[in-house]
Amino acid sequence: MCLYRCVPLYFPARICYIGIAEEGSATVGSAVLFDFDDTLVETAVHFDRAKKEFTRLLAGLGLGDEELPEVLNRYDIAEVEAAGGFHRDCFPRALVAVYRYYCRRAGRPVASEVVRTVTALGRAVYDRVPRVRPGAVDLLRALAGRRRLILVTTGDQEVQMKRLAASGLAGWFDAVHVLPVKDEDAYRCIAQTRGLVPERSWMVGNSIRADINPARRVGFRCIFVPHPRTWDYDLEEPVGGHLQADSLAEARRFIEPLAKTRMRMLRTKKFPTAAACPAGDVTPAGGTAP
Ligand SMILES: [Mg+2]
Repeated sequence: MCLYRCVPLYFPARICYIGIAEEGSATVGSAVLFDFDDTLVETAVHFDRAKKEFTRLLAGLGLGDEELPEVLNRYDIAEVEAAGGFHRDCFPRALVAVYRYYCRRAGRPVASEVVRTVTALGRAVYDRVPRVRPGAVDLLRALAGRRRLILVTTGDQEVQMKRLAASGLAGWFDAVHVLPVKDEDAYRCIAQTRGLVPERSWMVGNSIRADINPARRVGFRCIFVPHPRTWDYDLEEPVGGHLQADSLAEARRFIEPLAKTRMRMLRTKKFPTAAACPAGDVTPAGGTAP
């Protein structure tokens, strides 16, 4: 179970530093875990644009009504739940399902050409180059070399790795986990695999459901960074005990004091800027954990 949850794992080809924390230091067994979508990069905006385009397309066919956003949301969530996690086909399938739904309601035949167009519209979302959120690079730069940085993201492995590479952020991470879902088992497994003490580590993300609650239950310190476009699927009653930051800059102020704990650096390198970071500088699992 644990292995399933943690596979696939990725390690960067370039380890920017090697450091050993002082004995008994708060940095032993610690790391900062980051969510990717709508925490470090903008993602929801691409889905919203696709939904608007889909709405226009349906309107042009004389289909749809004021309930369309809610219907689409329902189908979208149903596809994710049916797939057991985030899969690249979920969103295109949801769009097609909604098109079929409105065809049924209107007593109209389903046109295969429209199905193809709608499917392409849904798939195109994953080809968009993700825009890095304000403060993301500053935060990663400030923490790199002081804490292990681990990306914990959900979605299709190939899609997420491609998007991470395109974002230019790949080079900052010591490890990347692409998972079907982020639940308690997943966080527990990451802690075991990476030798983390959850109480000394942070999870930073925009989803109460995926980033905050399950990580809190395992014992991680958590910083909730709300995003205005957060999907309904990510909403949940918080279990409590987390911090909330209005921005990544504010999140940095929570983490940084602890990250400044003295470390004995064995070897240092100047860290690259985001633009200079080798975008695709990650290699498949099988290496040695940092
Ligand atoms: Mg997110």
